[in-house]
Amino acid sequence: MKFDIPAGARHILQTLNGAGFEAYLVGGCVRDLLRGVEPHDWDICTSALPEETEGCFAGQRIIETGLKHGTVTVLVEGEPYEITTYRTEGPYSDSRRPDYVRFVPELTEDLARRDFTMNAIAMDLDGNLRDPFGGADDIKAGLIRCVGKPDQRFQEDGLRVMRALRFAAVFGYEIEKCTARAVHENRAMLDRVAAERINAELRKLLVGQSIGDILRQYPDVFCQFWPQLGPLVTLEQHNPWHCWGCWEHTIRAVEAAPADVTLRLAMLLHDVGKPACKSTDEQGIDHFYGHPAVSAQMANEMLRALKFDNKTRERVALLVERHDAQPPPRSQVIRRWLNRLGPEAFFQLLEIKRADSMGQDPEKVRDRLAELDEIRAKAEQILAEKQCLTLKDLAVDGRDVIAAGIEPGPEVGRVLNGLLERVLNGEIPNERKTLLAAIHKT
Ligand code: ATP
Ligand code: MG
Repeated sequence: MKFDIPAGARHILQTLNGAGFEAYLVGGCVRDLLRGVEPHDWDICTSALPEETEGCFAGQRIIETGLKHGTVTVLVEGEPYEITTYRTEGPYSDSRRPDYVRFVPELTEDLARRDFTMNAIAMDLDGNLRDPFGGADDIKAGLIRCVGKPDQRFQEDGLRVMRALRFAAVFGYEIEKCTARAVHENRAMLDRVAAERINAELRKLLVGQSIGDILRQYPDVFCQFWPQLGPLVTLEQHNPWHCWGCWEHTIRAVEAAPADVTLRLAMLLHDVGKPACKSTDEQGIDHFYGHPAVSAQMANEMLRALKFDNKTRERVALLVERHDAQPPPRSQVIRRWLNRLGPEAFFQLLEIKRADSMGQDPEKVRDRLAELDEIRAKAEQILAEKQCLTLKDLAVDGRDVIAAGIEPGPEVGRVLNGLLERVLNGEIPNERKTLLAAIHKT
């Protein structure tokens, strides 16, 4: 079968072949071609040693950063192509790269070091496959299967546990039975993996199409790097709003959230404080008073432990903390919320409130969903009309206040904020004349 291969990759394979070396497309790009998806990068493996590869591309732009691991990056028309000498590798300890590599003469040996059969296929320019582990069949069947013995492969590099889940979630594939058992049994290997590597996989996993099934089937893996999830996974909730246990509710809320890392994280962690806040009343109904604040604090710690960037961490914590609060659908309240949160966080909050409701009894949340729609429509109107929401939007500024006789200093800010409050409340319009007249009345 012929595939659409970019001219740069063709040029590299032809140059290496012309110099008498073997060279193949390999890894993610071959897998994606076979899946019928356009590859996002083109990795090449070759029998040429790194210095021989460099010799083949003398005069072209070369990046040598991966040289120690056998990788020469060649730039063709600005596009980088990684060309890696056939190699096996040592353990990963916890870093992004294996501790050491050893160059080998045979393609098959190079393919054997790769994690899953679908990632261990090489292809030449005519579309001929070198596929010693049956990866093409596994792709057809939608199966993720380790190359070699699953236990051994996960013990060499614990990150593969996360990679298995990530590929399963993103492609909607099943993890083959023996590989799945080994995922569960070797999840503790994640303890040795650098947080940054787990983070990179988790981000992709969370926005995958089958994230829900993965959370259902592998809660133990998530608990490995976030033990705080443990009590949530088993928490029952006897409460008229909820027809599912806490974990199933969480999963449904994650699934209902848009495929965005911040929103999915917020849904995954929004109830993590519930176990610590549970009480049961005389009617046998469970309550979780104060859980949003507790969840927010736990989310903050969990995201910090996994080295999430500050922006994501702070936003997730904010959304989790507010997930139970809902402004009534009145313009003056919505303006206040827009003022306090900013439009981006405000609309994110509406998204997670909707997703949270979708994880509850559908009969009971219909009104709440309708109200969320109403709030959104009003907020959009407020923004479209460019209504005053912040001090910057106010039709008077500090100079005006001073000119009106207010002493320069903190009092100026107090007066301006007082005016803004009244405008947000809809008590006075955001008009210069009215505001000037109101200065001495705030
Ligand atoms: P993506 O589409 O996310 O880039 P990918 O399969 O290309 O997926 P990369 O991390 O770019 O993933 O790795 C390229 C190839 O290197 C993989 O296809 C696989 O053959 C091999 N590989 C990557 N990480 C590992 C690992 N931890 N263990 C074994 N093989 C790996
Ligand atoms: Mg890749």
